[in-house]
Amino acid sequence: MAFFHTEVANGIYLISSDLGGPDGGGRSMLPGKATANSYLVEGRDKALLFDSAVNEPGLAQYVQTVTDKPVMPVLSHGHIDHIYYLEDFPEVWLHPADLPLLRGKGIGSRRVKPMPTVHELADGDVIDLGGRLLDVIHIPGHTMGSVLLLDRDTRVLLSGDTGTRRLLYGISGHVPTEAFCRQLHALESRPFDWMYSAHDRCALPKDHLHTMIDAIQNDLPTAKRVFSIPFWGGLRCFTRGKETELSYFDMAYWGKRR
Ligand SMILES: [Zn+2]
Repeated sequence: MAFFHTEVANGIYLISSDLGGPDGGGRSMLPGKATANSYLVEGRDKALLFDSAVNEPGLAQYVQTVTDKPVMPVLSHGHIDHIYYLEDFPEVWLHPADLPLLRGKGIGSRRVKPMPTVHELADGDVIDLGGRLLDVIHIPGHTMGSVLLLDRDTRVLLSGDTGTRRLLYGISGHVPTEAFCRQLHALESRPFDWMYSAHDRCALPKDHLHTMIDAIQNDLPTAKRVFSIPFWGGLRCFTRGKETELSYFDMAYWGKRR
């Protein structure tokens, strides 16, 4: 069993694998290499699992060792690394713009079969776990259906691959970066203090949104490094700082529609 969990805020558990830590393995919570994390948020009546992002069989069973409440699986988005073993869940909640990814359409997709019963989320939805409310915030950019969850109790934002130290942009539909930055800017006025992303175990300060906006506006236009994918095209890439620094940011941008 490689799963472990740790409570990062009252009733919010980060679930990850100790085979992949920020320094190669283990349970470190420090900034470093990319990790893969799901989050479990426990309310009075039920618990919410944000992403099936740990590439180990048995997450559905593991979460029931963390909570005895019924579990509602919610996806930050439909990319392959967020839907591992999704077949183990009878139902799933996501934004409908990412449904094609679960049907195997597009880069970074996987056909989920059998498909769990799908419940659609919309921007502004409020998820009530019993005495605990989470706001659904839809920000297209990483994918067209990317959502973030704001836990009003702890002022924690579960930010998926949107509020992140590593932004992959434009491979699953294209939103102008100006519009994306406007949404990040609006996000700054929301009532939260810390973000937890799907690929870092460390908490990111709200201020990190500023770093992202600044890098997208100032570093991306002059980024020269190109990462090529055969038969597909080039992603423009840049990095800021070191991965072991909290303020690290990197981006891979694909600007053209196919
Ligand atoms: Zn993704």
